Amino acid sequence: MYRTGIGFDAHALADDRPLIIGGVHIAHNQGLHGHSDADVLVHAIMDAILGALALGDIGRHFPDTDPEFEGADSLELLSHVQKMIEEKGYCCENLDSIIIRSGINQGHNN
Ligand SMILES: [Zn+2]
Repeated sequence: MYRTGIGFDAHALADDRPLIIGGVHIAHNQGLHGHSDADVLVHAIMDAILGALALGDIGRHFPDTDPEFEGADSLELLSHVQKMIEEKGYCCENLDSIIIRSGINQGHNN
C-alpha cells in the first residue's frame, strides 16, 4: 500500500551559521538559523514521511525546546524517522523536492 506525504519547511538565513542542505555542507557566507543544524531539506523530507504515516511532525518528535536536539545532525534524525517507518512495515520509494530561496526572513527554529 502506498502512502503520500507532503513536507514543508522554512528557515531564515543567518550569519555565522553553516549552510547544510540535504546533509551537504555548502560554502556560503550565511547559513540557516535553527536549533538543530537547520537542514531545511531533510526537515521537509522528515515531515513528509511522518505525515504520510500520520505520525505527527518533526516538532513533535524533535522539539526545538529540547536541548538534546541543539545542533543536532538532521541526517541522524532522518535515520530515526526511517526506523520508525520500517517498524510499521513501510519504506520510502520516491521523493521529489524543491528548494526555494525566499526573500522572506521567517521560519521555525528546528
Ligand atoms: Zn526545519
